[in-house]
Amino acid sequence: MTIYCCGCSNKVDARLTTGAEIYPRRPDLAALPFWVCDACGNYVGCHHKTANPTQPLGCIPTPELSAARQHIHRLIDPAWKSGKISRKALYEKIGTAVGRRYHTAQIRSVEEARQVYRAARTIILSLNEASASPASAEHIAADPSTIDVA
Ligand SMILES: [Zn+2]
Repeated sequence: MTIYCCGCSNKVDARLTTGAEIYPRRPDLAALPFWVCDACGNYVGCHHKTANPTQPLGCIPTPELSAARQHIHRLIDPAWKSGKISRKALYEKIGTAVGRRYHTAQIRSVEEARQVYRAARTIILSLNEASASPASAEHIAADPSTIDVA
């Protein structure tokens, strides 16, 4: 399948494999499908619980990008799980702020991840202010440069 690989900055002919290859020490993941880029060795998981179980979750991230996406999820997931805003509405607001339809799995660069993080943080802080619970803002890291790019 042709998938955009963030490590190669190009569309690549990804190879379908399983967790047995990707995570040899995780027998619990052995049966799960993954698409791997043989040029750089990065990979992406699949929507394996759906009717189309080998549909990739998004583009193939680098390890840095995976970390940056997790950083974004730690920011935005508690916001929609709190019920202050629906997941759909939050993603739409982020999409408006960054100028394109937003999905975390489609982030292609660390720079893009930082842009999303800044936008999401502004949106979430305004939600928290609107609901007059200033304490909840303290959980949000102040500096978007704290996205781990090590
Ligand atoms: Zn690649």
